[in-house]
Amino acid sequence: MAKIVDNGTTVAFYSPEQAWVIGSVTAYDVKNKTYTCSSKDPPVVMDKLPGSTVKLWAPRVEYLEEDVHDLLQLTELHEASLLFCLKKRYLRNIVYTNIGPIVVALNPFNYEIPWYKDEKMHEYLSEGVVIERNLPHSWAVAHNTFWEMRENKQNQTVLISGESGAGKTEAAKIVAKYLGAVSTLTGTDAQKDAMQAVNKKILASSPILESFGNAKTVRNDNSSRFGKFAKMQFDRDGFLVGCHVTKYLLEKSRIITSSQNERVYHSFYQLAQGEAGKKFGIRNVKIYKALSAGGCTSIDGVDDAQDFLTTQQAMIDVGINDEERNSIFRIVAGILYLQNLEFTETEERTGKVARIDANLHTAVTRASELWEVSEERLVAELTSNTIVTRNEVTLKLLSRVQAQDMRDSVSKSTYDWLFNWLVEKINRTTDVEQKCQQWIGLLDIFGFEDFKINSFEQLCINSANENLQNHYNWHIFTEDMRECKEEGIDTTAVQFVDNKGCLDLLMTKNGIFSLLDEECARSGTEKNFLNVLNEKFGGTKQKSGDPYFGQALGKAMDNCFKIKHYAAEVQYVVDGFMDKNRDTLKENMKKVLKDSGNVFMASLVPALEDPNARPAAKLTVSGYFIRQLQELMGVITATNPHWIRCIKPHPNKLPLNFHGSGVMSQLRSAGVLDTVKVRKAGYPIRFANELFLRRYAILLTATHESSARAKIESIFKNQSIERSIGQLGKTKVFLRQEAFSKLNHAKDEA
Ligand code: ATP
Ligand code: MG
Repeated sequence: MAKIVDNGTTVAFYSPEQAWVIGSVTAYDVKNKTYTCSSKDPPVVMDKLPGSTVKLWAPRVEYLEEDVHDLLQLTELHEASLLFCLKKRYLRNIVYTNIGPIVVALNPFNYEIPWYKDEKMHEYLSEGVVIERNLPHSWAVAHNTFWEMRENKQNQTVLISGESGAGKTEAAKIVAKYLGAVSTLTGTDAQKDAMQAVNKKILASSPILESFGNAKTVRNDNSSRFGKFAKMQFDRDGFLVGCHVTKYLLEKSRIITSSQNERVYHSFYQLAQGEAGKKFGIRNVKIYKALSAGGCTSIDGVDDAQDFLTTQQAMIDVGINDEERNSIFRIVAGILYLQNLEFTETEERTGKVARIDANLHTAVTRASELWEVSEERLVAELTSNTIVTRNEVTLKLLSRVQAQDMRDSVSKSTYDWLFNWLVEKINRTTDVEQKCQQWIGLLDIFGFEDFKINSFEQLCINSANENLQNHYNWHIFTEDMRECKEEGIDTTAVQFVDNKGCLDLLMTKNGIFSLLDEECARSGTEKNFLNVLNEKFGGTKQKSGDPYFGQALGKAMDNCFKIKHYAAEVQYVVDGFMDKNRDTLKENMKKVLKDSGNVFMASLVPALEDPNARPAAKLTVSGYFIRQLQELMGVITATNPHWIRCIKPHPNKLPLNFHGSGVMSQLRSAGVLDTVKVRKAGYPIRFANELFLRRYAILLTATHESSARAKIESIFKNQSIERSIGQLGKTKVFLRQEAFSKLNHAKDEA
């Protein structure tokens, strides 16, 4: 038998670019115990590899050929075999793979794969609880979710995770479409017609929310810049009756500007290129600063003018009338004009004072016309603040930077209110809570982010992901072990990275967010906030799995802190944290907008504060977000969860491109390998005793057993289900894949 130290031995070895590759040992350094390895395809040579990064494959090289629908069936369980299996499948256009009940979905970047086209959906649609024969697919998840809701009368959630561009939004749409189809399988013609009408409205909500809430980023041409939890509502009989959408945290900076090679929200380009743009005098998109901030105004393969028509039709489908649509477009066009506004600065006795650049005055004129607000008042509020003290009212003229901030803040608030209105309108059309008896929630929330510069938004997004990962850990690991223990089942304890410490660091009463709120409340500074964090958490040791807080090293970095998240260590720049967290538009500006002659515009503006009342404590952005998150986690925890783990195979956004180390790091951060381990060590398939008996009653040979336990034991015996592959707990049956397949096979034969 070949030894690993021998030259020519077949091994899998680690390369930072490819993650694992198959090749052979070309030299072994006895003194340092390191290897030199090489592979031909792809051509890689690695020197000084420690033993932990070289894995002997011979004589079991055939294991590399394993191609399984469920990673639990892999004979050799190792990062390398997992990666090879996914890669082999991906290069054959098989993008879905199961890990027990979890689906790993690699983004195909290709809608033309024959076996994933919509016309294949009917093969999954047949009635039944669990899909066993079909290929792994998001349809299969949708199918099982639907039938589990119907059979067990329990609400379900499909939690879709993955980094930007991994395919979450597409997966959510695939699941929603399937749920629409599966629920219309039965029922009278009238019921089917009613459901199809509901379904049409639900599907129409996607183009609207994507137009206003998605944008091109360097990672994804259609990146969702908000989180979404859509509850598909069903009546007692499992007929689709409606949908309710909750939105989380729209990225506001993208309303006014974008980074290089990115765009602001699609809606702006659609409007500018579509017929509404002409109506509002918008012609050359390049002259609108917001549109061209990222240096790219179009996206390959996307026709914004055509998309404008799609968005408009979708608005009609959800019942947004002509007048409302016209007002919506006027508001969006108004933002485009207002953002073109620039200020000059003059030196006055009181300091530097902003004036509207005379050459650009038409920008504010056009914006005021479109929004139907007083131009004079708008200009006054853009360039000055009225300060009311007990004895007097003074006017403070703003500097150029302050005036720019004011302009941006009006645009951001207005668009955000508009987005909220759209979500509410969609809900008013599709939400039928009174008829809803059970539901399936689809969560498509922003994935973990780690950019060159990370700010407040990334901290919020990454905190949401910490919460979801914690729920996942709890369900897959902790809860799993607890259930086994309670049921008296032996399993091997599996180690996993517990992220509870990091969650506490962020979310508890004395955690980072609450310290930020305190700093905002006392009108402190970002510098001070950072000092408080350092004082409080600076000494936290970095142990594996522990939260880690640290100040970045180096003088240029004295505005940063770092956190070790479950997925990676991220450095955050505190500049702008306070403003972003407060995010208030001054009352006087709100009043200008509230007095708009356009009823729709006026209705968007939240109620003004009563100047005589004591100011109510306002919830900060993070305060509101955390409250929403806690509610969401509460809702999810009370449901039966299903997971789709989306993976982006390559940054190229092209089909059949596979980047080993990128995929590996996503698998690691999603805890996929740990999941395979825990599932393999335990018994992934479980049925309550009664459900098991209902499914497999046909396998009972004798009828004299009285108790459920005795009946199950008898089935185990006659099907030769050994203890190693199946155990009977107190109330549940625990099966490994092998036992499950055996039983299903026997059932089919019977
Ligand atoms: P973000 O977090 O940025 O919103 P995401 O995970 O929601 O990203 P998607 O927008 O769903 O990513 O997918 C990105 C792109 O990948 C899609 O616009 C599409 O081109 C392609 N894509 C995703 N899923 C599929 C699929 N199932 N079939 C074909 N192409 C897909
Ligand atoms: Mg998305």
